[in-house]
Amino acid sequence: MIEDSLTASLPLDLDSEQSGPKPTTSLHRRHSPLATPHYQQQVLADLPLESLPYQGDFQTAIAQHGWTSFQPAELEIFQINIGKLCNMTCRHCHVDAGPDRTTENMNRETIDACLRALDLTNAHTVDITGGAPELNPNFRYLVDECVKRGKHVIDRCNLTVLLLPRMEDLPQWLGDRGVEIVCSLPHYRKLNTDAQRGNGTFEKSIEALRRLNAVGYGQGNPQQRLTLMSNPVGAFLAGNQAKAEQEWKAGLLKNHRVTFDRLISLNNMPIARYLEWLETSGNLESYMELLVNAFNPATVSGLMCRNTLSISWDGRLFDCDFNQMLDLEVETPMGRPHIHDFHPDWLAQRAIATGRHCFGCTAGSGSSCGGAIES
Ligand code: SF4
Repeated sequence: MIEDSLTASLPLDLDSEQSGPKPTTSLHRRHSPLATPHYQQQVLADLPLESLPYQGDFQTAIAQHGWTSFQPAELEIFQINIGKLCNMTCRHCHVDAGPDRTTENMNRETIDACLRALDLTNAHTVDITGGAPELNPNFRYLVDECVKRGKHVIDRCNLTVLLLPRMEDLPQWLGDRGVEIVCSLPHYRKLNTDAQRGNGTFEKSIEALRRLNAVGYGQGNPQQRLTLMSNPVGAFLAGNQAKAEQEWKAGLLKNHRVTFDRLISLNNMPIARYLEWLETSGNLESYMELLVNAFNPATVSGLMCRNTLSISWDGRLFDCDFNQMLDLEVETPMGRPHIHDFHPDWLAQRAIATGRHCFGCTAGSGSSCGGAIES
């Protein structure tokens, strides 16, 4: 059982402050209505956005710019979400991850099904996400199997997880395999980062970055690429990515002697705990208005749902990690396939599922797991 092997493999009590900052708890733990994907969809659908451009409807917006059918391009990226378990509970988390999510973690059988499916495609990249994916006992097995297959592997890392016991060797282990590490860090200043992710996050993150630098990450070697991923601390859009990268590089070097290779900036998606924060802070309607008014048609062809397949811990298939959290499964002419009965041809025929949350990806310069879409 995954829960038993998880408990045995965990580096320490993930509920403790020592394991990672926790400015809130998961919606799931609080039995909040927002823990239910359907309820989240309803909250977004009920907003009075009809007076906005495109009547606040994403399908209308893309159709007016020529996308009357919204279908995928060639599949390039397998994004595997191997679980919701995390040592942190950040306020903006669209996964609603946390230490209490011990049930939703991918087992070896499903990982093997992902690998068999991967072998049926020409996808060049495997993007491993969570939760904190490193906490899944099958994480290193999955990385090794993908590296053996010659894939570019990405580990989406919250940084603080690298400080946990039994994780000390991980920077070197990942570096030896050429894994790109994409680390979430809201801001290069302590105040902004700790406001979103909890007190102490910034210092732990800097320590983790130092450990990554010490084994060669973040110094221009494409085999040890260190990417930082920022998101706005508040109800506004991500700023200019290229400009921010220069500022971050100078700030982190000057103040902390830390280096990294590139910065990607993402918009926050109105899903799960960020949706909760928008509601409780009274920003929900104005944030959605901002997203709709900032719709940028030039981003549509580059949306990540067009070249990515997102797989959940239990092997269900989605167009992207956001649709996964809203439970909007892939629909094909053959029904809703599972990773066990994966067939690339069926997937190519699907229409991508969309909703109002999609305006988060098309606002401003656009936003995807690879950062801004339009430079
Ligand atoms: S949320 Fe973004 S990536 Fe996902 S389907 Fe909508 S537009 Fe595509």
